[in-house]
Amino acid sequence: MLSADRQLKASFHSELYNLIPEDHLLRKINEAVDFSFIYELVRPSYCEYYGRPANEPELLFRLLFLQYLYGLSDERMIQEAQVNLAYKWFLGLNPEDTLPDPSQLSRFRNHRLGASQINEILQVLVKQCVEEGLIKSKTLIVDATHTVASTQKKRPLDVLQEAAKRLVRAVLKKHPKLEKKLPRPPKCMQGDVDAAKVMLHYLAELGETVENLLPDHEGAISEKLKHAKQIVEDERLLANKGIMSAIDPDARFGWKSNTLSFFGYKEHVAMTEEEIITAIEVTGGSEDDGKQLPKLLEQTEKTGMKIEEVIGDTAYSGKDNLNLLASKDIQPIVPLNPIVHSGGMKQEGFTYNKDADFVICPTGEHSIRKAVQGKKKSGRSRSLVFYFDVEKCKTCPLREGCYKPGAKAKTYSIRMVAEHYQEHMRFEASTTFKERSKRRRIIEHKNAELKRFHGLTRAKYRGLFGMRIQAYLTAFVVNVKRMVKLIKQMQPAS
Ligand code: SF4
Repeated sequence: MLSADRQLKASFHSELYNLIPEDHLLRKINEAVDFSFIYELVRPSYCEYYGRPANEPELLFRLLFLQYLYGLSDERMIQEAQVNLAYKWFLGLNPEDTLPDPSQLSRFRNHRLGASQINEILQVLVKQCVEEGLIKSKTLIVDATHTVASTQKKRPLDVLQEAAKRLVRAVLKKHPKLEKKLPRPPKCMQGDVDAAKVMLHYLAELGETVENLLPDHEGAISEKLKHAKQIVEDERLLANKGIMSAIDPDARFGWKSNTLSFFGYKEHVAMTEEEIITAIEVTGGSEDDGKQLPKLLEQTEKTGMKIEEVIGDTAYSGKDNLNLLASKDIQPIVPLNPIVHSGGMKQEGFTYNKDADFVICPTGEHSIRKAVQGKKKSGRSRSLVFYFDVEKCKTCPLREGCYKPGAKAKTYSIRMVAEHYQEHMRFEASTTFKERSKRRRIIEHKNAELKRFHGLTRAKYRGLFGMRIQAYLTAFVVNVKRMVKLIKQMQPAS
């Protein structure tokens, strides 16, 4: 239940707030941003008539804001706010007031902010920027950055053992009498030949037994069962691609270059030339950057910003993206990538990674070299041919229909279709294109700020849900800092 806005009692001690310097960052932020929007945003997640009166949402949201601004844990945030005058003033408390329990912060973050549309906090802020004239540019710069999961990439045997343990634990917690009816786990050691296969069979058998014993399963059992099934059905697991962790099932394996990989998430970011982030999409680390462009445009348009130009790298030069931008009369400043813009992959399960410049097959193996087929002057379309390691193909569980037994090579070809994009290719050679492309670099500084100063290098929580909360709150904080700077720039020099 939400209580009516709390009125501060006059306090003799509030004189102490005069000690906070006029140019303190929190004073400037308080002046620049209207935080009261949070009350309406989280209202649907509270029961109107029942429950104890809730702490004012604005107080909790301001605490979250400070937490992300200064990189503090829940407990540390409350401890610091108890003794820091500037924090208390920013929170709208009197010096002698007490702070809520740290558990309220996580409850507010997960159940109130998480339950409503977390992306709305960013939209509301960008709307404030548009209304105050802080955003004048009609350009959107797009890019992706990555965050490493808060768990290690696991070996297949670890993933299987962990998933089995969690499922058994969830079942026995609710139905302790079923212990004897569940199959016994096999004794598998890391390094045993076929240990992972034995464990995989056990997990499949365990899942079936639980489904038979508890056909109406729900809650934690359903969740663990679903996770076990996903693991059992994942063809890439035994190929040791570590695509799934039992602890963070949403994190995925991605590539930063052809030698550097990571396990975690990607944040797809859209930003204006004034360096205000207008939209963020969070996905697993393996997702394609280009596919997120329509969502980034949609989120940005909701803020009221007019977009006339999009600047991005080759990942955004897909046929669908170029057609979408043309339909909206938006100028694409994206260099064409012959592979990306030729319209995707022919064979299901194969994907092209532009950062690493290789093709990834359904088992997670990547091509080991590439070659161009056909001469430039022959007049015929040329192809890019990607070669896979045949030794791996020979023992691959998915080789049927993909690799011909005895073949000396396994290749995947992509035709370099260029004729539809002649006009764009001519534009790409122009000075305007080259000049405007240089603006793309500013988003790299923004990504660095998100990661280096506000902790987006590593996930704080597990799962896509937590990662979205982290990404949006971080972007909110970074935007507020930028707003303060833009307001200062707009003020006449004294
Ligand atoms: S046969 Fe080779 S290319 Fe095809 S899925 Fe298996 S490892 Fe990948």
